[in-house]
Amino acid sequence: MAQLILMPGKERSAMKRHPWLFAGSVGRLEGRARPGDTVEVLADNLRPLGRAAYSPASQIRARFWTFDADEAVDDAFFKRRIAAAVARRQALPELRGQDGLRLIHAESDGLPGVIADQYGDTVVVQLTSAGADKWRKAIVAGLVKATGCARIYERSDSDVRGLEGLEPTTGWLHGEPPAGGLSIAENGVRLAVDVVGGHKTGFYLDQRENRAWLRSVAAGKDVLNCFCYTGGFSLQALAGDAASVLSIDSSGPALAQARANLALNPQLPAERAEWLEADVFQALRDFRKAGRTFDLIVLDPPKFAPSAAHAERAARAYKDINLLGFRLLRPGGLLMTYSCSGGVGLELFQKIVASAAQDAGRDARIVRRLAGDADHPVALNFPEGEYLKGLLVQVD
Ligand code: SAH
Repeated sequence: MAQLILMPGKERSAMKRHPWLFAGSVGRLEGRARPGDTVEVLADNLRPLGRAAYSPASQIRARFWTFDADEAVDDAFFKRRIAAAVARRQALPELRGQDGLRLIHAESDGLPGVIADQYGDTVVVQLTSAGADKWRKAIVAGLVKATGCARIYERSDSDVRGLEGLEPTTGWLHGEPPAGGLSIAENGVRLAVDVVGGHKTGFYLDQRENRAWLRSVAAGKDVLNCFCYTGGFSLQALAGDAASVLSIDSSGPALAQARANLALNPQLPAERAEWLEADVFQALRDFRKAGRTFDLIVLDPPKFAPSAAHAERAARAYKDINLLGFRLLRPGGLLMTYSCSGGVGLELFQKIVASAAQDAGRDARIVRRLAGDADHPVALNFPEGEYLKGLLVQVD
């Protein structure tokens, strides 16, 4: 096995068990290693620190598989780590009975670059690092063993693969493609999941608990769901007996799926749903001109800032939609507002929302923080692992 030897003093983050080694902390490579190969990591004084996946193309030059310098990284390693990740979810009471859930959350489960989401008897994997890519077969075997799933689909088409020098890869890795479409039942609401063409692995699982919360307060309210995608929040609002639910998205196919999802749920009051294909920034301005108001508004936009470098432009976009949202709320109205930008932390997001309320001339307070709990667990020492930030704000 090749050895990756760090620069003097650069072992500190590994000692704190941070799973990433940046190019700047690497001194030299002794021996030969191809992308994704396992290397032994040593401090400058040759003290062993663990074993990591080598990725010469990436600024994240290596990702630790293990901080135990003697632990073998082999098929059995992946079987153990995957079984442990699945068992952690099985032990969480809020996940009991859910058939759409995240099983593996990459670094947070000790499996850098590995995402696995379960939709019924199908698991979708996303492999985003050279190391994860290399161990594809072992990962599939571990998932089949731990879940007994009927099939596994690979959705490794995320942009971040490019940073690791990897091409996009998609396709069935195990089992037969499903005969009909796939669907899950989220708290009693049936939702089709397009694992081949949908966003991410097909669905935004991280909003499950927030959608359930919306349902619990929706009764009698006029709800506006911005960036509705396939209607997850919209359908839960209808299930919660909302008076009306207006949903906006700029994607025609997403809206078509949202309508189809509503049709899958004949128990819901479909006549109270309205779908609008539009740009949210424009639609909110139009509502303002038309004097239209709402009791509850959901703002769950796409990632405006993939990294800190885009934070300023993203901040303006968040400010804009939140300001418009505040203006459209009736007295006592609620705003469920989110950022899934890695480059915008909770503290900054809260500042943006606060200044949006102020500029809209509204007195408002945070009723609760709305984290993306369905993505948990998140590693304590790895803040990069948590993306979804949310605030529930009430205006006077
Ligand atoms: N809330 C959803 C997930 C939202 S994903 C859920 O719980 O499932 C973000 C969505 O925003 C995507 O569907 C995308 O099509 C849409 N979108 C992106 N930019 C937009 C814009 N300017 N106006 C309207 N919709 C937009």
